[in-house]
Amino acid sequence: MSDLATRLAQLDTHLARFRDGGIVNLINGQDVPGSGGAFETRSPVDDSLICSVSRSTAEDVDAAAKAAKAAFPAWAAMDGKERKKILHRVADAIVDRAEEIALCECWDTGQAWRFLSKAALRAAENFRFFADQAPTARDGQTLFAPGQMNVTARHPIGPVGVITPWNTPFMLSTWKIAPALAAGCTVVHKPAEFSPLTARLLSEICREAGLPDGVLNLVNGFGEDAGRALTEHPDIKAIAFVGESKTGSMIMKQGADTLKRVHFELGGKNPVIVFEDADLERALDAVIFMIYSLNGERCTSSSRLLVQESIAAEFHDKLEARVRNIRVGHPLDPATEVGPLIHKVHYDKVMSYVEIGKSEGATCRAGGARAGEEGWFVKPTLFTDATRNMRIAQEEVFGPFLTSITFKDEAEALDIANDVAYGLSGYLWTNDLTRALNFSDKLEAGMIWVNSENVRHLPTPFGGVKASGVGRDGGDWSFDFYMETKNTSFALGSHKIQRLGA
Ligand code: NAD
Repeated sequence: MSDLATRLAQLDTHLARFRDGGIVNLINGQDVPGSGGAFETRSPVDDSLICSVSRSTAEDVDAAAKAAKAAFPAWAAMDGKERKKILHRVADAIVDRAEEIALCECWDTGQAWRFLSKAALRAAENFRFFADQAPTARDGQTLFAPGQMNVTARHPIGPVGVITPWNTPFMLSTWKIAPALAAGCTVVHKPAEFSPLTARLLSEICREAGLPDGVLNLVNGFGEDAGRALTEHPDIKAIAFVGESKTGSMIMKQGADTLKRVHFELGGKNPVIVFEDADLERALDAVIFMIYSLNGERCTSSSRLLVQESIAAEFHDKLEARVRNIRVGHPLDPATEVGPLIHKVHYDKVMSYVEIGKSEGATCRAGGARAGEEGWFVKPTLFTDATRNMRIAQEEVFGPFLTSITFKDEAEALDIANDVAYGLSGYLWTNDLTRALNFSDKLEAGMIWVNSENVRHLPTPFGGVKASGVGRDGGDWSFDFYMETKNTSFALGSHKIQRLGA
């Protein structure tokens, strides 16, 4: 059997249980159907039905929030070393089931095997990283003043809501859930309606690894009902959200009455700036990787190429040749580099930008068309001759779609790079150290890579500025979000107290 045929056969065995029983919620350790009926999840490969999924209402969210509230005191009080052991067991189980997770997620989302086979292992690393920090998560500082000693300590904030999108959903949800659990919070997770399979697997893995009932609860459903109810629930103290910027604004409004703490990882229109003095072969590899890997459905994709005029013609020629050569195909075929987009709705959105780009006067050098006859495949697309104000240079397309703009000098490059609503990441290619330092200092982005694609180091802060997000996670920044810092002040002597009314 070919690699693809073998993977399809393996996938079929993993999907059988979903076909038979559908995906139900997991609340307080129990499998429970949603009270709003069910909806269908379909594969973007051929639009075939995968299974039915519980549609949750405010009633189900209330049950999940109450379970998380009830489980919170014991989980928060558990010795951090015990939490560490449980979270390492979760990581072990993710590694054991990495193949199943990757197969299901490729089929559910259309992401290519070559990337997702590693994503599950990265998810296990997230759990291990935060597991190791669980024993010290509550540590604080001692701050002295004359006659006074202050002691700070961190306390888990309480039950939290985690709302995740459909792009690399398993790995992204572990970024939020692992630190929340390590901090001592309990969680209600609402995964994206387009990609529910692996969130269910994660909740089962956690249950089997010994996570106490109610510590991680899963509610499936749509944003406007289940998601909304979670953001409005009074027992939920904070919302960690990953998704579109406009959804972030809605969540901020929805959470206002209950004063929710929010952490938002939102959209991006990230520039990759290539100067004439760069290592152009490496820059070319990175430019291509950062927009066409993961189908371009990644928040940190370098969707805006800014290339210096002096090298633009040659760079574009090479780029076009490579983009035309990218292998579009079945996500489970190991040779595939770009798979189908998540859903027809998203396919239509990405294709609409092809028309927008053409009508704005940019040149479509590659792609711009459907690939194949079924499924939501789009040929890797490259637009050149764009100008900074075009919609294809300003708006997040979130597909295998690159917009290239040329610039004359450093000042113009910086001006164009910052002239967008977003500010998630930026990529800079130059061998001039002074330029790299100055440029990265002035670039409006939460994360910048110089002479590199996005290579994530877990202790570093992750997040965006402007319309790309609120707050940071990664390393200790995650604990700042999931914990409250309390200061207790001790008088060291008998200082003078004003004697009013004496
Ligand atoms: P989305 O905003 O449409 O949905 C994300 C989640 O929010 C889903 O679970 C959805 O059901 C839920 N939701 C929708 N409306 C809601 C509401 N009113 N209240 C509560 N929940 C609601 O995003 P998407 O299309 O699933 O994901 C793609 C987006 O995510 C892109 O913009 C991408 O850039 C962004 N993203 C950002 C990062 C980052 O780290 N900055 C990472 C991944 C994805």
